[in-house]
Amino acid sequence: MTTEPYRPEPIETFQSKEAFEAMRQALAEVRAQFGRHYPLIIGGERVDTKEAITSTNPSNPAEVVGSSAKAGIAEADAALDAAWRAFTTWRDWPQEHRSRVLLKAAQIMKRRQRELEAWLVYEIGKNWTEAAADVAEAIDFTRYYALSALKYKDGAPVVPYPGEDNEAFYIPLGMGVVIAPWNFPLAILTGMTLAPIAVGNCVVAKPAEDTVVVAAKLFEILEEAGLPPGVANFLPGVGSEVGAYLVQHPRTRFINFTGSLEVGLKINEAAARLSPGQVWIKRVFLELGGKDALIVDETADLAAAAQATVQSAFGFQGQKCSAASRLIVVDKAYDLLMEQVLHRTEGLIVGPAEENPDLGPLASAQQEQTVLSYIQLGQQEARLALGGRKLEGGGYFVAPTIFEGVPPHARIAQEEIFGPVLSVIRVPDFDAALEVANDTRYGLTGGVFSRKRERLERARREFHVGNLYFNRKITGALVGVQPFGGFNLSGTDTKAGGPDYLLNFLQMKSVTERF
Ligand code: NAD
Repeated sequence: MTTEPYRPEPIETFQSKEAFEAMRQALAEVRAQFGRHYPLIIGGERVDTKEAITSTNPSNPAEVVGSSAKAGIAEADAALDAAWRAFTTWRDWPQEHRSRVLLKAAQIMKRRQRELEAWLVYEIGKNWTEAAADVAEAIDFTRYYALSALKYKDGAPVVPYPGEDNEAFYIPLGMGVVIAPWNFPLAILTGMTLAPIAVGNCVVAKPAEDTVVVAAKLFEILEEAGLPPGVANFLPGVGSEVGAYLVQHPRTRFINFTGSLEVGLKINEAAARLSPGQVWIKRVFLELGGKDALIVDETADLAAAAQATVQSAFGFQGQKCSAASRLIVVDKAYDLLMEQVLHRTEGLIVGPAEENPDLGPLASAQQEQTVLSYIQLGQQEARLALGGRKLEGGGYFVAPTIFEGVPPHARIAQEEIFGPVLSVIRVPDFDAALEVANDTRYGLTGGVFSRKRERLERARREFHVGNLYFNRKITGALVGVQPFGGFNLSGTDTKAGGPDYLLNFLQMKSVTERF
């Protein structure tokens, strides 16, 4: 196979007139397609249902972006059958052939890049650059897994033994369920779906209820790329109904889940129980929430730290698992840093995502309600320094919010809020900063701003998170560059976009022939 080595896709910032105009046009073209209905795809067939899931624009919830069919138990059973049927041939495709289908899918995504970004802007309220990062990551996952899969095709080396021919090779697991969140509706769904598929598994994918249209676009692309029917089945539905059904099903071999801690723990428990007729132990991959902290000490470049704080806390309205939701500041740096953080945050523009503001709306009415209730709680636990209110306009707009004087064990310093709310904790010194940073049940991302080598080295060892960043923002991990996944209750640390990720979906078989 001749193909260029993997490199992350550059993320468009729309500074050039050409990119800006192309995006304006894509937004208009996508808007003209609002209201379309997307059926399920089971074994390559379009299947509609009586009930539908309606997806609205969070910048203007009166607007319907589109709708999808809503799978129930009968459709879930049909999808399981279709996936297992497809597995009997897909597992035997030469690896190069499978990888080629994925590389083609990446190429189609690239061709439809602006259009996919426009769908993200409208369906989930990402500003243009956030949408561009989501699409670039989807392209990256697709290419990276297509190429990584090639390294498993010849098996693993084994030690020679007299009188025997020994070999060890990899085989796929079978059929798995993919359950995705709404916050990276293209990138995460793409990565979780295509990694197992790359190495010969088949999947039933259940996207989040709020982002069924973007998910349907991925399935259009996979079909165009020539993925055989049944290898990836599109099954939008209600998580607690069809998602839970698929998780407990005896024919489900693995579950690839990204979402909240609460749901992840339920899935873990249900998957551990042996269902009647089940003949394997399910593999469960869980990538969950975070309460990510950025530490700033008195030696840091405070202007850079302030900028990174604001980007990490408020990018995509703080609705990233990697978002900074705690800022831990050493006493001597406090006043100067906070002056700049507050000043920068005050200047942020919040508005409809299609106008490409700094912050768009929150994803849904439910998200808005959760965030506003944490803001209310924060006013009892700490001092509101900025924001703290819903903003004018029809969308789910909430002002970027900063609480100061937050005690390290306050609920707003311990629970994932998943919105534009930053809890600032003042500590006497670096030792205390590290202690506070590690003192949550999560361990996803973290960061340190410091010019002191020994402090960075200490944090390298002791700051217990899956993704640690020094002197930069703590969001925006790149596929292949920063393998992504968290420790403790942030998940099973599968390290998506990492060199070993595909091994999760393979099992090794050892065969010996005595001569
Ligand atoms: P969620 O847990 O509410 O939903 C995730 C998915 O699970 C959805 O598709 C939903 O329909 C489904 N679901 C709900 N109940 C279910 C059940 N009982 N059985 C099976 N499936 C069920 O999460 P969300 O609100 O969509 O996403 C936000 C969360 O995801 C945050 O906690 C965030 O930190 C986390 N997240 C983590 C990562 C990571 O890589 N660690 C990345 C992105 C998001």
